[in-house]
Amino acid sequence: MIEDKVDILRSEFPIFSSNPKLIYMDSAATSQRPKSVIDKVVEVYNNYNSNVHRGIYAMAEKATQEYEDSRKEIASFLGADSDEIIFTKNTTESINLIAYALLPRLKRGTITITELEHHSNILPWRKIASLAEAEIRTVEVNEDGEISEADFEKKIPGTSLLSFAHVSNVAGTIVNARELVKKAKAQGAMVAVDGAQAAPHMKLNLHDLGADFYALSAHKMLGPTGLGILYGNKKLLDELEPPFSGGEMVKEVHKSGQEWNDVPWKFEPGTPNFVGAIGFGEAIKYLNRIGMDEIEKYEKKLSKILLEELEKISELKYIGPAENRASLLAFELNGYHPHDIAAFLDSRSIAIRSGFHCAQPLHERFGFFDGSARASLYFYNMPNEIEALANALKELVKLQ
Ligand code: PMP
Repeated sequence: MIEDKVDILRSEFPIFSSNPKLIYMDSAATSQRPKSVIDKVVEVYNNYNSNVHRGIYAMAEKATQEYEDSRKEIASFLGADSDEIIFTKNTTESINLIAYALLPRLKRGTITITELEHHSNILPWRKIASLAEAEIRTVEVNEDGEISEADFEKKIPGTSLLSFAHVSNVAGTIVNARELVKKAKAQGAMVAVDGAQAAPHMKLNLHDLGADFYALSAHKMLGPTGLGILYGNKKLLDELEPPFSGGEMVKEVHKSGQEWNDVPWKFEPGTPNFVGAIGFGEAIKYLNRIGMDEIEKYEKKLSKILLEELEKISELKYIGPAENRASLLAFELNGYHPHDIAAFLDSRSIAIRSGFHCAQPLHERFGFFDGSARASLYFYNMPNEIEALANALKELVKLQ
């Protein structure tokens, strides 16, 4: 049980010994990294730094082997095959990559998203919709920030592609992804899932889920920055043209033409972030050692305590469901600007995020026109930190 060993786990994260007072509640923006991941990155640079899939000398082969082993580790963690795992820069790039690759298939089609989306799952589709003369439909959410079933049923017929966030980074809604995928597929739509806030916190099996694409970022789940994953159904990936091209994504290039490389390398033009990919493999090993089921169980408890403690503050208004929510809470407090809340909490060494969290339409849907303050947790947070947050907010209310 994580409760019994959270101190030990925290001691494996150098950030907490460098900042002994820090109460870090901004893991939805980026998580902290354990020493094993930091050490792995340093090990690559110190011992076998060389470009992958190029040199045939021993050191380059070692780097390539580690890079591809990491892909296998990630694939198995996600319940996918390694040739379905494409290394990108982040979730944003993964979604853009799908959008551009699907452009020819979306000509005069219909792209359906939801009101829960992060800008990264809105703007690439707006861009593609304008290039493909496609229509965008947006499925509404109810007052609890949950996808309206009735509106979904209304908007899904005729959809060419459905793209939705598995977990909302603002409302904390955990979307029933399986159900949405099943219903969309039954209507013949392709499905892409933004898993940026889901993959760090729950056990996934992408083959079981059945979506065509799934996007995530390593930096939100203990891995290095600058690395994202795009999972794609192998059959679709084989069929799609790579939207970006250049070195290493091609087998042969002649004066008159070229032959693309196999999947997944066809979608990885140029020198990849191989150090980040190898570091992410180490992060996955760390998550596997704790166990995603354990992480999910512990975070459910944290999430409940977070809501219970903050709900006691009558001046606080939050977005999202009261139950079955992720371990984050986006809120307003008695007319305080979210940045003022964050600055006050910073004076108590509590790090939270304030603003729109790249989800302005969702804030506007709930009348949060200045954005919100958001506390977001991970398995290294503790109940006494939530208590400290609640006490600081109560103090702030009294100052008015
Ligand atoms: N989608 C969601 C739901 C997110 O929370 C985030 C990160 N805030 C992203 C997409 C984008 O992730 P990245 O900035 O790593 O590309």
